[in-house]
Amino acid sequence: MKNIKQLDTQYVANTYKRYPVEIVSGKGSICTDAEGKEYIDMGSGIAVNALGFADEGWMAAVTAQLGQVQHTSNLYYTVPGAELAAELCRRTGLKKVFFGNSGAEANECAIKVARKYAAEKKGADYYHIITLENSFHGRTVTTLAATGQAHYHELFLPLTPGFLHTPANDYEAFVKLASENKVAAIMMECVQGEGGVNALDADFVTRVAAFAKENDILLIFDEVQTGNGRTGELYAYMHYGVTPDVVTTAKGLGGGLPIGACLLSEKTEHVLGYGDHGSTFGGNPVCAAGALHVLSRLDNAMLQDVREKSAYVFRALQGAKGVKSVSGMGLMIGIETERPAAEVVAACMERGVLCLTAKHKVRLLPALNIPQNVLEKAIEIIKSVCAEAPTV
Ligand SMILES: *Cc1c(COP(=O)(O)O)cnc(C)c1O
Repeated sequence: MKNIKQLDTQYVANTYKRYPVEIVSGKGSICTDAEGKEYIDMGSGIAVNALGFADEGWMAAVTAQLGQVQHTSNLYYTVPGAELAAELCRRTGLKKVFFGNSGAEANECAIKVARKYAAEKKGADYYHIITLENSFHGRTVTTLAATGQAHYHELFLPLTPGFLHTPANDYEAFVKLASENKVAAIMMECVQGEGGVNALDADFVTRVAAFAKENDILLIFDEVQTGNGRTGELYAYMHYGVTPDVVTTAKGLGGGLPIGACLLSEKTEHVLGYGDHGSTFGGNPVCAAGALHVLSRLDNAMLQDVREKSAYVFRALQGAKGVKSVSGMGLMIGIETERPAAEVVAACMERGVLCLTAKHKVRLLPALNIPQNVLEKAIEIIKSVCAEAPTV
C-alpha cells in the first residue's frame, strides 16, 4: 500500500483526493483491500459496477468478445455495437444510438445534435441550451459550461458559450428564460446526482416537456448516472411519462467498462450525418458486449428488485437517529446526516462500508444486484455511524 500510495501521489496527476485504501479484488458487492480487509461496496465505482465485481455472466460476455475482436475502429461493422444499439432502441422506443466512451462524451454528442438541429430548423442563432442550476454534465470545456455549478467553472474560463442555467422545479423561471432567448434544447438529470441526489418534481418535468414540445425545443435527459436501472426503471425519465428527444447515458451501461451512448428519437435520429461526429473507441466491441449483457440482466424482475430494495433503504433510514432526510430514487440515495457527510463516510469505511458523498449528503449507489442481506448489513452500519455523536 505504501509503495502504491507513493507511486500514485508522485506520478498520477493530482486531480483526485483518494481515500487511503487500495482495492485489490472484489466479488459481487464485497471488495477487499491490500491488507485483506473486506468492504461492502455501496458506491459501485460511482454507479458503474451495476452488477457488482466480477459478475460471472458479464465476465463471460466480455472475455468471449476479447477472444474474438477487441477493436476494429468505426471503419468496419462489428456485432456487439450493432446489437447493443438495437437493444437500446427496442427497450426505449428511441431510434438511433451514437456511442462514445464516457458520460461527458455522450453529452457532447447531445449538445452537437441540439445545435445542428436548431441551426437547420430555426436558424444558427438558436444555439442556447438551458440546463438546471446545481446540475452536473461532465468535465470537458463544453459539458462544464452545461454544468450549473459555478465553482467548477472558475479556473477554466472562458467556457463554450451558449449555456443558460435555471433553477430546478421552477417552471415559470424556465419559461421566462426560454422565451427571452433563442433556445435549442433543455437538458436535465431526473435525479441530480453530483448536485445532492435531488429528484425533479413530476409536475416540473411534465410541464417543461410540454413547453419544449410546443416550442420545438429539444428535451434532453442526462441519464449518465440515473440510467440503466439505477432508479428502478431502465431510464429515469420513464418514471415521469415524458417522451425525450435525446437521452444520454454511460456509467452503469458497461458494467465497469467505459462506454457512453447518446440515444436519438424520431425527431433527432437524422440530424447527424457522415463526418459530423465520431470517436475512435466509440462502440468498442468489448465494452458493447459487456453493456449488452448488463441490459439483458435489467429485466422487469431486476427493476422490481431495485424498487423493493430502495423502499427498504428509505424505510430503514427515514427517521433514524442522526438522519435528517433521505432523498433520491431507486438505488440512488442521498442521506442528509447530522454529522458532516465526509465524517460519516470515513467512519463507515473504518467499519467496512464504502459510501460516497454528494454535496453535503452521504450518497449510496450500490450494485443493482446487491444481495438483501448484504444491503441490510451495510445499512445497519451506516445507521449506527449516523447515530454516533460527531467526533469534533
Ligand atoms: C458522471 C456524470 C457525467 C460525466 O460522466 P463521465 O463519464 O465522468 O464523463 C455526466 N452527467 C452526469 C449526470 C453524471 O453523473
